Amino acid sequence: MTPDMHEIYAVRYAHHDRKAHENYIGGDPHDVLQPLAYFVWVIRGPHGTFVMDTGFDPAMAAKRGRVITRPVGEGLAAIGTDPDAVQDVIISHLHYDHCGNHDLFPRARYHLQDQEMAYATGRCMCHAHQRIPFELNDVTAMVRKVFDGRVAFHDGVDTLVPGLTLHHIGGHSKGLQCVRVQTRRGHVVLAADATHLYAHITEGRVFPVTYSVADTLEGYSTIKKLADSPDHIIPGHDPDVVRRYPAAGPGLEDWIVRLD
Ligand SMILES: [Zn+2]
Ligand SMILES: [Zn+2]
Repeated sequence: MTPDMHEIYAVRYAHHDRKAHENYIGGDPHDVLQPLAYFVWVIRGPHGTFVMDTGFDPAMAAKRGRVITRPVGEGLAAIGTDPDAVQDVIISHLHYDHCGNHDLFPRARYHLQDQEMAYATGRCMCHAHQRIPFELNDVTAMVRKVFDGRVAFHDGVDTLVPGLTLHHIGGHSKGLQCVRVQTRRGHVVLAADATHLYAHITEGRVFPVTYSVADTLEGYSTIKKLADSPDHIIPGHDPDVVRRYPAAGPGLEDWIVRLD
């Protein structure tokens, strides 16, 4: 593989049917379904394999009324990634759909922004409204990893390895980070929840769960600068991602796609 070039896989693991108006502050005039898809991402390059986000498990799916289409571990196995061997996990933010499956990566170090841990364990969590997307068990599992020496904290912009950088965005969650990846087609940005759907960043609209509307909108500008083109921006929850990109192999259609 060419130095600093990476492969990227989007692995879809869950689904939630909902009406379009639920996805935007201010609602939406169309009375149509606009479902969310749930993903983890695998980045492979000359310096190893990085998994971005860890999804949720069947118990959490039941609690939150989501449907697991294929468990995260099954998706990783389908592209030859053994969770036991993964050394590095990047956590975009600590919402329940991004940091569950706590024991799936027993050897991994977890990469997290300072501000996200401070937010999820500090005074903002005194408010029931701010706690909605967080789960106590997820947050305490991450605190345990800190005490086990398994968390690497990042503040703002940081380089993990050549061609793979972390960027604090904030907005949707105070310490939300996205990832910029050098690939053979240019620099791709895995935005995670910095833009849930393509419509959020292209139309300047905001998902209802948000720490700061202003930072969310500023985040769109940052992402556009980091990506080589609009086609290099990958939203965190858009079902269209599995239609726009080719399956990663036979039998993986509508499940795992290549983004590079
Ligand atoms: Zn989120
Ligand atoms: Zn999310």
